[in-house]
Amino acid sequence: MTVLGETIACPPEPVFATTLRDMNNPFAENEDQQALRTLARDVAMRDLAPMARHWDETEEFPEGSWEAIRKAGLFGITVDEKYGGHGFGDIEAAIVLEELGRVDVSSAILAQLTFNGPPRAIQHLGSEEMKERWLPMAASGEALFCIGISETEAGSAVTQMRARLTPDGNGYRLNGYKNYVTGGHRARVCLVWCRFPESEGAKGIGAVLVDLESDGVTIAGTHVKMGLRGTSEAELAFDDVRIEPEDVLSVGDATSSETFKTLIAHINHERCGNAAMCVGAAQGSLEYAIGYMNERTIGGKPIAELQGLQWKIADMATQIEGARLLLLRAVHLAGPHGTPPALETAMAKSAANLAAKFVCDEAIQLLGGYGYSREYPVERAYRDIRGLCIGAGTVEIQRNFIGSQVLRGAVPASAGWRK
Ligand SMILES: Cc1cc2nc3c(=O)[nH]c(=O)nc-3n(C[C@H](O)[C@H](O)[C@H](O)COP(=O)(O)OP(=O)(O)OC[C@H]3O[C@@H](n4cnc5c(N)ncnc54)[C@H](O)[C@@H]3O)c2cc1C
Repeated sequence: MTVLGETIACPPEPVFATTLRDMNNPFAENEDQQALRTLARDVAMRDLAPMARHWDETEEFPEGSWEAIRKAGLFGITVDEKYGGHGFGDIEAAIVLEELGRVDVSSAILAQLTFNGPPRAIQHLGSEEMKERWLPMAASGEALFCIGISETEAGSAVTQMRARLTPDGNGYRLNGYKNYVTGGHRARVCLVWCRFPESEGAKGIGAVLVDLESDGVTIAGTHVKMGLRGTSEAELAFDDVRIEPEDVLSVGDATSSETFKTLIAHINHERCGNAAMCVGAAQGSLEYAIGYMNERTIGGKPIAELQGLQWKIADMATQIEGARLLLLRAVHLAGPHGTPPALETAMAKSAANLAAKFVCDEAIQLLGGYGYSREYPVERAYRDIRGLCIGAGTVEIQRNFIGSQVLRGAVPASAGWRK
């Protein structure tokens, strides 16, 4: 990488240790996971890093990143082998997202949308027909998927959503307006959360798949944002869109909120992916700051020798490790084919969001005036992770959930201190 016009060492290749300490590490990566990390890091450094600033400056869709991730076969890592994927779970998804997010969060989001987004819900909840139609497209990177939950009046208050189905022969008609749909301007298909007939509140919320080439779908606009500028958030209008019976992923029952709870649980994949991208972006910013501090001299000495700045590095590294450990716990608890548990996921997401905010902010400070310049990557990382603190459920909403659970006596899975 270049700092102040000079070339400094790139962040190191991942080193897979073989010491006794690492043999005893409960989160040690197996050979497949190590190979996946190496592959994702290669793609990130070779194909994503050189263009990251371009996507940010131009707000163009990162076609080059899409192609690189597709060619490497990374889109399909969580899709069953039967449909052309690799059949991995949340640990592997987190590994890939951490590595991609380390250099460019806008590009990493393409992978997140594919392997933690709608295709994950289709795989767990969809009919065989639905899986055969959509999962090969996800695995091969043929199509981008997006998810429409939020509305202008229903963000955190998701159960106030108004998008609604009305019966139409053997199927339905969908009317609604979804806000902040990541990739919605470019996607082929949207998983739309909506009300089934006669429902209110959490009861009766279900989900349907909408082919965005259908009659009645309009891209009403895209948001102009602070960060994550490579992946636009679209506003999608659905005007009497025909929904065939085979496009219903989860039926909402007007007398029950069970379907809503199942859908919310599926968002835990996305929340863990969000945390992984935050850990990756924070790690990239920490490494960049260290490289800079070793090169930048004041009074003839590198600023890395200033103890006051070493303390910043200590705090940054500690925050990252805390968040990474919470994330590892959540994804390990999911097992190879399960769903990350809600409490541990909420802790991982909020910790990773806050750690990334702290670390990227400190990285800007450590680079001084250059940190504030768009010629250096740390301010972009800060703007990008700022969006991740809001998407997939804000930090406040995670804390509401954690607080209410802990007050009720819930104990996260740990070494059994409470038993
Ligand atoms: C980059 C990005 C990508 C996104 N991608 C998608 C997507 O792909 N699909 C999609 O459907 N949505 C997406 N969203 C929307 C996102 O899920 C919502 O923005 C988020 O849920 C918050 O909703 P809101 O914006 O309406 O804010 P509000 O819900 O209006 O919240 C405003 C503020 O009040 C706080 N707040 C709200 N309720 C409470 C409460 N009960 N207690 C304490 N504080 C509270 C919030 O934390 C926030 O700080 C995305 C958002 C961003 C920024």
